[in-house]
Amino acid sequence: MNVTHLECANCGKTYEANKLYNLCVECGKPLLVFYDLETAKQTLTKDSLKTRSENLWRYAEVLPVENPENIVCLGEGFTPLLKVERLAATLPLKLNLYIKDESTNPTQSFKARGMSAAVSMAKELGVKKVAAPSAGNAAGALAAYASRAGMEAHLFMPQDTPKANIVECEQTGAFVTLVDGLITDCGKIVAERKDAEGWFDVSTLKEPYRVEGKKTMGYELAEQLDWTLPDVILYPTGGGTGLIGMWKAFDEMEKMGWIDSKRPRMVSVQSAGCAPIVRAFHAGSRFADEFENAHTVASGLRVPKAIGDFLILDAIRASNGTAIAVSDENLVSAVKEIGAAEGLFCAPEGAACLPALREMIEKDLVGEGETVVIFNTGAGVKYLECFA
Ligand SMILES: *Cc1c(COP(=O)(O)O)cnc(C)c1O
Ligand SMILES: [Zn+2]
Repeated sequence: MNVTHLECANCGKTYEANKLYNLCVECGKPLLVFYDLETAKQTLTKDSLKTRSENLWRYAEVLPVENPENIVCLGEGFTPLLKVERLAATLPLKLNLYIKDESTNPTQSFKARGMSAAVSMAKELGVKKVAAPSAGNAAGALAAYASRAGMEAHLFMPQDTPKANIVECEQTGAFVTLVDGLITDCGKIVAERKDAEGWFDVSTLKEPYRVEGKKTMGYELAEQLDWTLPDVILYPTGGGTGLIGMWKAFDEMEKMGWIDSKRPRMVSVQSAGCAPIVRAFHAGSRFADEFENAHTVASGLRVPKAIGDFLILDAIRASNGTAIAVSDENLVSAVKEIGAAEGLFCAPEGAACLPALREMIEKDLVGEGETVVIFNTGAGVKYLECFA
């Protein structure tokens, strides 16, 4: 509701609300959605939230769907923010440490948030068939939401995608194609075939609404921390939708007068086998080159080239954050460390945040008593191959 227009995040070209879009027609970069926040805040108040449904559509005034009948919901969002004191006690300094546990989303990852928003908008705008390349969890989420909306989903995944992702897509009624290559190769196939097949492409940031679904993590953090934000957020980064979305949410909340201008330090965590954002951050570049021979068991982080690279890097820099690469060995062993301390079976992507936090502590990038949030973006049970 309340969408005023869309705007290219790179060149600023504006676009009318309530139409189907992929990338900016001028410069090929992602579009972002803008709202009439003065109107939104009349009904979306801190008080009104107390009685709303416990899913991300509680923030409907700042989400793009106009007609609530088009909302495609499986109960996504409003995930627990767990204080993890036993895990924090293993660190060499005292922190208020939390894990935002996104594994409780439908289809067991935070991809559900983005796909719920994107599929709802696709439904509102008359789409019948959607397509996407995926490293795994995006496909699982799209398959589920497309079926729930009565749409066809056409999914393209690398051959070595975790088996659970492939099986869940098949069992939730999608058309699945396995590709001998990376997610970038899968993306090329979607781009080549979509016009002839009549598919709407919902690739990460190639349509504007997945970010809107994911930004709700920023609203939830503020709400769950009693309208404050943490000092540090560690975010396992592939395409970066969640980081970009939360950064946007903070801005919207400030404009509505809910928070001040202080921002968390945004920390992008990647695997050493695929770390284009980490490399670009330390090189001082605004855009990230494609990472050659990308490989990591944390399949959600296997994104060698992110189209929203500049938005991720801008947010990290503006927040005085950083970017850290973690070896596969360390991120896999962190799964067990978190699991044994807190009973959470994390996705390897989420677990990667723990060794990254240790590195920040060693380098004095986090201080005694600070509030730190780690994003566990998915469920470990989908990655049984990693623990063989
Ligand atoms: C997709 C994915 C990521 C990366 O998310 P982005 O928003 O694309 O950066 C991290 N963890 C898991 C489990 C994922 O599925
Ligand atoms: Zn543009």
